[in-house]
Amino acid sequence: MNRISVIGSLNMDLVIQTERVPLAGETISGRDFNLIPGGKGANQAIAAAKAGSPTSMFGCVGDDEFGEVLLNSLKDAGVNTVNVSKTSKVRTGVASIILESSGENRIIIISGANNLVDAAYVDSHWDEIKLSSLILLQHEIPLETCHYIIKKAHASSIPVMLNPAPFHEIPTDVLTKVDYLVVNEVELQGIVPAQVSSIEDVIRAGKEINQMGVKQVLITLGGDGAVLVSNEEVIHQPAFTVNAVDTTAAGDTFVGYFASAIINGFGLKQALVNSCGAAALAVTKVGAQSSIPCNDDTQSFVQKYTTEGVR
Ligand code: ADP
Repeated sequence: MNRISVIGSLNMDLVIQTERVPLAGETISGRDFNLIPGGKGANQAIAAAKAGSPTSMFGCVGDDEFGEVLLNSLKDAGVNTVNVSKTSKVRTGVASIILESSGENRIIIISGANNLVDAAYVDSHWDEIKLSSLILLQHEIPLETCHYIIKKAHASSIPVMLNPAPFHEIPTDVLTKVDYLVVNEVELQGIVPAQVSSIEDVIRAGKEINQMGVKQVLITLGGDGAVLVSNEEVIHQPAFTVNAVDTTAAGDTFVGYFASAIINGFGLKQALVNSCGAAALAVTKVGAQSSIPCNDDTQSFVQKYTTEGVR
């Protein structure tokens, strides 16, 4: 059966909204506080499941209240969570996010239980993981685990999609084993440190990565859509014009939808359209996992937009 395995992070986002951040030693009253289920791994798993693909999450949470909430959020979206470990050694990962009214944000991540996703965890779940049609990875579990999985998957001929966020350097012998690399502009420049100020620059950088051995390179460009660069073709899908209110999880929505389209055998053009359509819908809503649209909504939005030019 076609199935996606996401091996990645689960974090509780602790979001404080405030007029301004306090000075050292100062106490101020903030505006609002929310607990929002997140973590790039969990967000992308939810996007893939909402896109309609059987999706299993692999990772680790603490044996605490946040861990329960995160698992329930995944289950509600239809993600299989039986392989997510619970530990009593450390707490569930958290991201402490301070949003200033100016739009400036400050984020501190405590990886917590995500740090326990190591080679031994991967080996002990490999019988399950190896049944996947695609393995989806990000950079919010230990980097050495990520690299270990990519090499192991390659040896077993299981395709890997890597979204290297947050960016850390990827060794060449690992990069060459990635089948689909999905990067935003910042991550792109981490790999190809050239000036990127136009679509042509993006395509040039994408081709350089093709030459390094990655067959399919996807570059997301926020309000400028996304570009696919492979040895055979280059496709630029402009963004769907929407009233953007919150871009949180836009990239994660794109990645999860793209993974789903790939394992369902969609052509690359159609995969790009679906992913940009879903990500555009996600930016019209506040929130992370809750803003990720289901496939029916995405399909009717894309169809309406294309046939009626709905904005
Ligand atoms: P990240 O959040 O990872 O940096 P991007 O900002 O590139 O990712 O956004 C991912 C995708 O979300 C884009 O390729 C695009 O399809 C969609 N998107 C982002 N911002 C907007 C926007 N303002 N309007 C429409 N679509 C958007």
